[in-house]
Amino acid sequence: MTSLSWISQPLILPWASLLLGLMVGSFLNVVIHRLPKMMEREWQEQCAELRGEPVTASKENRLGLATPRSRCPSCGHGITAIENIPLISYAWLRGRCSACHARISPRYPVVELLSGIAAAYCTWRYGPTLAALAAMVFVWIILAASLIDFDTQYLPDSMTLPLLWLGLLLNLGGTFTDLRSAVIGAAAGYLSLWMVYWGFKLATGKEGMGFGDFKLLAAIGAWVGWTVLPVVILLSSLVGSVVGITLILVAQRGRDVPIPFGPYLGAAGIIALFWGNQLSNLIWTRLA
Ligand SMILES: [Zn+2]
Repeated sequence: MTSLSWISQPLILPWASLLLGLMVGSFLNVVIHRLPKMMEREWQEQCAELRGEPVTASKENRLGLATPRSRCPSCGHGITAIENIPLISYAWLRGRCSACHARISPRYPVVELLSGIAAAYCTWRYGPTLAALAAMVFVWIILAASLIDFDTQYLPDSMTLPLLWLGLLLNLGGTFTDLRSAVIGAAAGYLSLWMVYWGFKLATGKEGMGFGDFKLLAAIGAWVGWTVLPVVILLSSLVGSVVGITLILVAQRGRDVPIPFGPYLGAAGIIALFWGNQLSNLIWTRLA
């Protein structure tokens, strides 16, 4: 018996991971909300600097990821610790601010729940291993990046690039695929969407997707390897076209309204990390 044997007790680890995932999900909500604002402020400061204007923004009260405390967007009520417990506070407050009773978006508990369930699944599937922790981080970063893309049509480099390097580093030891497949996966992921982008641009004169999408697929390729990339592209285009066509038909959304591709790529990437090899085999045996 090692001192870590309690950890291998069935289900203790998944339950502990669920709790961890819920707390991380609560933090992801802050990242999704604040990171785009922080990036915008940084760009404005850089522009001011280039124009030779003084950077006026005060260093105090600056929005960071850890400070200041979260506030109700409607009334500015500071969220107390007891109002910040994942899922429970939302249910207890019935989805409303305790001060002004404005509705709180159900997206907050949904992100917490997805983050928690994913973390529990990772340890249930991989046990107490590096792969479990790595897979959690993969899901968390993609979840946050996808929602930022959904809100702002922008995939932050500060998320896609570290995700790419982390995938390559992990696969040095063959955590999810061999290093060769990971490196080719990263390059092929970037190039495949880059070619689609230029093909689309030459054919229609429009930009169909952003450079952030290439970087996200490069990162996914670094994690799952090039052999699984066709599955990622197939799944994301399939779901993307179904949702896109539905939005145009049902919500009467204009054809020219850009639909962020990041969330579909991200969802396909997560599916591919867990079930990519099975799906890949399925597709190839059907085609053969
Ligand atoms: Zn309020």
